Amino acid sequence: MTDLVIRGGTVVTVEGARLADVAIRGGVIEAIEPDLSGPAAGADRVVDASGMLVLPGVVDVHTHTRVASGALPDRFFQDSVAAAFGGTTSFLSFNNPGTGSSPAAERSLLTGLREWRSATEGDSAIDYGLSLAISGHADDPLTELPATIEAGVATSKAFMVFDFRLADRDLFKAMRVMGDRGGMLQVHCEDPVLLDAAVATALQRGNVLPRYHASTRPSYVEAVATARALAFARATDSPVHVVHLSSAAALDEVRRAKAVGVRVTAETCPHYLVLTEEAYDDPDPVRCACFVISPPLRTEADRDALWAGLADGTLDLVATDHVPDRVDTEKAGAATGLSFDQISNGAPGIETLLALIYSEGVARDRISLERMVDLLCTTPARRFGLARKGALEIGLDADLVIFDPRTHRRLRAGDLHHTSDYTPYEGLSLAGSVRDVLVRGRAVITDSQYVGRRGAGKFVEREHVTG
Ligand SMILES: [Zn+2]
Repeated sequence: MTDLVIRGGTVVTVEGARLADVAIRGGVIEAIEPDLSGPAAGADRVVDASGMLVLPGVVDVHTHTRVASGALPDRFFQDSVAAAFGGTTSFLSFNNPGTGSSPAAERSLLTGLREWRSATEGDSAIDYGLSLAISGHADDPLTELPATIEAGVATSKAFMVFDFRLADRDLFKAMRVMGDRGGMLQVHCEDPVLLDAAVATALQRGNVLPRYHASTRPSYVEAVATARALAFARATDSPVHVVHLSSAAALDEVRRAKAVGVRVTAETCPHYLVLTEEAYDDPDPVRCACFVISPPLRTEADRDALWAGLADGTLDLVATDHVPDRVDTEKAGAATGLSFDQISNGAPGIETLLALIYSEGVARDRISLERMVDLLCTTPARRFGLARKGALEIGLDADLVIFDPRTHRRLRAGDLHHTSDYTPYEGLSLAGSVRDVLVRGRAVITDSQYVGRRGAGKFVEREHVTG
């Protein structure tokens, strides 16, 4: 017997949008038909979705949620709830330094995986997975990679900057090992030589304010590193994913690489699509520090180029790079003159992905509804080995969002549920809102209220990456 039928909504897939009913049984999509009044008559529950969009649940492949700690036992759970409020039904986290992982986890990928799984077991409201951070401080960063792929962690990230970066030679080898074994390396592309030199010069001149975080990371610092990473991908013939691409210059490198057959996908983030470097003009150093992210916010021309890249397929997906930093904690040092290179990098976004891309993208005619579903759901699921996620298709997990496109509201930090205490988008007016969210057929959000259960979310062991 059918458990649930969603009636009268506009079902959106990559191929198109149509009025249809959706039947769910045993947590799986059982049927999508113009009229399922027959099964609805015998179903446990019928949900009216007339006037609504029925979307696949969003798959956010880039977050830095923090695992529970003694002092903050709810911080992982609470961010998973926040994600659900925003229409996200699966997310991938990194276990990089600062997310609650131990020094032992930084030295061994398998230790990191074991620790992270036990720290998050039974804690999430929605489905989730892990991408490991490959640290240059590891005893041997590469030997354990094949075992992590077999343990369901098909993707891991290497950094070209920060003290835990991988040296170029190891980056190259990591790409090859991942590609050979059915995994995919994610790369944070910024050039350490250019960046370290610019930071040293700024500090020498006494330019310590948060806004110098941005001026020391011009877009060519990102572009030259992107070009090098993509040359490595070309030489190893490995799938590679460029994380948080922020500039037109780096976008051009991806476009060129794709044209010659490099197996690259690239993501950008809502902050690069909505905000610009004007945010660094704020004279209040703490407010300015709220936008200390890497890469930094760019120009209006960069922002427009990224929207064009989403529309023309140069960019493959949007993910949040969520970091639940707080104004009164991680960012607070800016008030007492802490120099920009010491301020925690990152900004929150786990709850606002769908809202921003719908409102700024679809409602403003920059991308189609179908393209939004591709960018937020279908491509992230396919590329990252989440085989049962990311599309409204018979036999896949019934992860879906009932979205009301007619509402209007103003985004306020006080209305969000994440573990940060601010939003970079304070006061932005938004079109559309999430009404209901289901994960494997179970209600997590109903009428914009949380009705889920802690621990209902499952760790997803991912398939190999094939593209
Ligand atoms: Zn990140």
